[in-house]
Amino acid sequence: MRYISTRGQAPALNFEDVLLAGLATDGGLYVPENLPRFTQEEIASWAGLPYHELAFRVMRPFVSGSIPDADFKKILEETYGVFSHNAIAPLRQLNGNEWVMELFHGPTLAFKDFALQLLGRLLDYVLQKRGERVVIVGATSGDTGSAAIEGCKHCENVDIFILHPHNRVSEVQRRQMTTIFGDNIHNIAIEGNFDDCQEMVKASFADQGFLKGTRLVAVNSINWARIMAQIVYYFHAALQLGGPARSVSFSVPTGNFGDIFAGYLARNMGLPINQLIVATNRNDILHRFMSGNQYVKETLHATLSPSMDIMVSSNFERLLFDLHGRNGAAIAGLMDSFRQGGGFSVEPERWTEARKLFDSLAVDDEQTCETIAEVFAQSGELLDPHTAIGVRAARECRRSLDIPMVTLGTAHPVKFPEAVKKAGVGKALELPAHLSDLFERDERCTVLPNDLKAVQAFVSQHGNRGKPL
Ligand SMILES: *Cc1c(COP(=O)(O)O)cnc(C)c1O
Repeated sequence: MRYISTRGQAPALNFEDVLLAGLATDGGLYVPENLPRFTQEEIASWAGLPYHELAFRVMRPFVSGSIPDADFKKILEETYGVFSHNAIAPLRQLNGNEWVMELFHGPTLAFKDFALQLLGRLLDYVLQKRGERVVIVGATSGDTGSAAIEGCKHCENVDIFILHPHNRVSEVQRRQMTTIFGDNIHNIAIEGNFDDCQEMVKASFADQGFLKGTRLVAVNSINWARIMAQIVYYFHAALQLGGPARSVSFSVPTGNFGDIFAGYLARNMGLPINQLIVATNRNDILHRFMSGNQYVKETLHATLSPSMDIMVSSNFERLLFDLHGRNGAAIAGLMDSFRQGGGFSVEPERWTEARKLFDSLAVDDEQTCETIAEVFAQSGELLDPHTAIGVRAARECRRSLDIPMVTLGTAHPVKFPEAVKKAGVGKALELPAHLSDLFERDERCTVLPNDLKAVQAFVSQHGNRGKPL
């Protein structure tokens, strides 16, 4: 499989190189040159497979030429072996034909484990083969950091540095990062906000001199491998609900458009998906596009669903690429005008094309809490605020009651106790067994000033299993 950039000017890469790449050299994002397409018979024949075997069949074409089948199977079996629920991504019924797919049974209790548990193992496999080491420098406002650290903690060939804003992540989220020890794991609390952290990561990709030749790898959802891993659970859900003979709809709590883009790809690979709902919080750039063809940057608001607090959705460029007939020059132009003027619209027929599949809703904090309370009263299911936004959007935007509607349950409610408390649900939140002593564990973290040079100096001092690069 070859991968090409959404801006058309960077060299095509194979899977291995795309795994190790950040942005393409032309500033674009990598996508498969040709998406595999499965027949209905083929998809139907996968019914009842264990999750890792389904994952093998769905992802095999993407890694072909880079990872032999037997090795890939073994990696997938290990990856999904660490999940605490036997079904890996169980479906919970809320109402007649309404479901939540629980994607929070991985080590860090958010859906990001599906991709980052795999990414860590893939990196180690590829790096072992090449005899190389890499450094990861990533920024997090919460869930990505812990999932990335958990995914890479056993990697022999990866040193991981995660930047989080000092005193601005929740205690559960901080402890999920800072209580994991290893000489290749480095938590850095930056005396600044999340944007400061992200800017430092971007600047480090742009100028990698401080790495003394060691390669820098991205763990945010611009990394293709993360999107790839998320395609699988759309197939998994559909197969349990009568697919592919029957179509299914999904509502997806969205920030960076990563998770929902995976659903879009599942559909293009042959899975009958009737409707994809973009569910955002008050940071609603995607909803403003889907509802009114305006992709315009606005100020950032802090919400009860912090993992979706974004101003700009990086993966949206991947959808725009398809909407523009995969014309890289057109995307480069749009992105330029976005950078200069802070916004754009697309031609009406392209927007109409997107709207055939996508609907959207923006849900504010008050409605989020209302939905948590409503669903708890109706069905006893306690939703986290991100998932609640998805359920709310599913209910308001649903096109057909005959088609099963699945909301992606992106996090365990215990990660976001504030929202649950505000919703007035009087149920005690308990950490799952593997995290029950989280608040008693020792923490390890370095506080650094909001200064790029200080961060880069720290990375070069510790980037080789705690020793200087
Ligand atoms: C990251 C995250 C999201 C948003 O996912 P995207 O792929 O950026 O759309 C939603 N919910 C939770 C709990 C998350 O951690």
